Amino acid sequence: MIDSMLQDTYDQVLRRNPGEPEFQQAVREVFESLEYIQGRHPEYNDQGILMRMCEPERQIIFRVPWVDDQGTVQINRGFRVEYNSALGPYKGGLRFHPSVNLGIVKFLGFEQIFKNSLTGLPIGGGKGGSDFDPHGRSDGEVMRFCQSFMTELHRHMGEYTDVPAGDIGVGAREIGYLFGQYKRLTNRYEAGVLTGKGLDWGGSLVRKEATGYGAAIFADEMLKARGSSFDGRRVSISGSGNVAIYAIEKSKQLGGIPVTASDSSGYVVDENGIDFELLQQIKEVERGRITEYAERRGNGARFVAGGSVWDVPVDIALPSATQNELDADAARTLVKNGVQAVSEGANMPCTPDAVNVFREADVAFGPGKAANAGGVATSALEMQQNASRDAWSFEHTEERLTQIMKNIHHTCLETAEELGRPGDYVVGANVAGFRKVADAMIAFGVI
Ligand code: NDP
Repeated sequence: MIDSMLQDTYDQVLRRNPGEPEFQQAVREVFESLEYIQGRHPEYNDQGILMRMCEPERQIIFRVPWVDDQGTVQINRGFRVEYNSALGPYKGGLRFHPSVNLGIVKFLGFEQIFKNSLTGLPIGGGKGGSDFDPHGRSDGEVMRFCQSFMTELHRHMGEYTDVPAGDIGVGAREIGYLFGQYKRLTNRYEAGVLTGKGLDWGGSLVRKEATGYGAAIFADEMLKARGSSFDGRRVSISGSGNVAIYAIEKSKQLGGIPVTASDSSGYVVDENGIDFELLQQIKEVERGRITEYAERRGNGARFVAGGSVWDVPVDIALPSATQNELDADAARTLVKNGVQAVSEGANMPCTPDAVNVFREADVAFGPGKAANAGGVATSALEMQQNASRDAWSFEHTEERLTQIMKNIHHTCLETAEELGRPGDYVVGANVAGFRKVADAMIAFGVI
């Protein structure tokens, strides 16, 4: 970094958070954008905003004991990082995946602060989860794990304090078990304490679709800003979970041809366009694997074990699986094949080197904190509905989501332009998200 103040603070972050590469990467990426406003806001330096922003307000780590179907006691580790509440109650998902550790949760929580700020809605940033792996576990095991997890987490939550949601490995089933245990422990039906709930018990229409829809809408806005569109263009999507499924559906609705989906075992290519209903049936209803899609689809769909989904030639890419899944080599392949736009459905799926490849090749690149903000935005809409004991129609909620994504796109573009970086959505998203939180923190004094 050129700016010595930013470099000194970043060095402190490295010293205070050793062994957390994803967290360090997320901080570095934001700091690199902040170089463009250094000198313009001396109050941020005087008030220690940078270091305060990097230090979570609260970090909770707890034991999660539960009994598996064989009667064996299992121990997992639970996390909740309540990162920043300058703009509203902590808000962010829970991730259940064996790779979860404190550094991963901090990276996700740090990103969440700026993402939530960009939505324009009153929500702070937080994130949580566990190293529990739901794959291959029975419903009973998942339920007992969720109940044990909530037995500790519930004392830290609240409609005005901290409102978790889903993320990798946490979908409607897990949210149901978590909410049920919260309700039992507190003897209160506080619908607004968790989002991603079922539609019959306080959930919002469009929440399930929101992140994937939002990532595709953001890509569409970037294309439109360049006089292009989804029309007839090939789209590759990685992952086959919540975000990927609905990124596929929205790409199709916008006129694109989604040709891939993947999971950790490999990817499918379907030259006729992914059959959304079949994929949804296999993944959401049957909890199957992506190989089954190729087996049942027939007519030219093929499964490629291992390998990189980014080898498939496309015009638009929506990485929607996990962090650092698209590296510089993959980015170069996409560029060589003529990719025009990349919109991150997942959190930080592109490595910093991959992002540089896209920037140098003038590919429109939407960073996750802007492009996948539709999920948390719709969670905030779920909270609004809960608070007013109301339920909105699909059309109304989708319209709100679309407008929010358009506003985020506009804010990023406008901010990038103001800073002399036209079309740079990374700088636009980081600076716009940061300034709003920093200004609120200054208003509150040193707390
Ligand atoms: P899901 O658990 O529903 O799906 C995750 C998908 O990604 C699965 O297909 C999974 O395959 C694949 N995947 C996960 N980890 C890996 C890995 N290490 N290598 C290869 N594939 C992997 O999660 P979501 O769809 O909810 O989340 C996906 C991404 O989107 C995450 O980065 C999440 O943080 C982000 N996000 C999610 C939001 C939401 O509303 N759900 C909101 C904003 C961001 P497999 O089954 O084989 O593990």
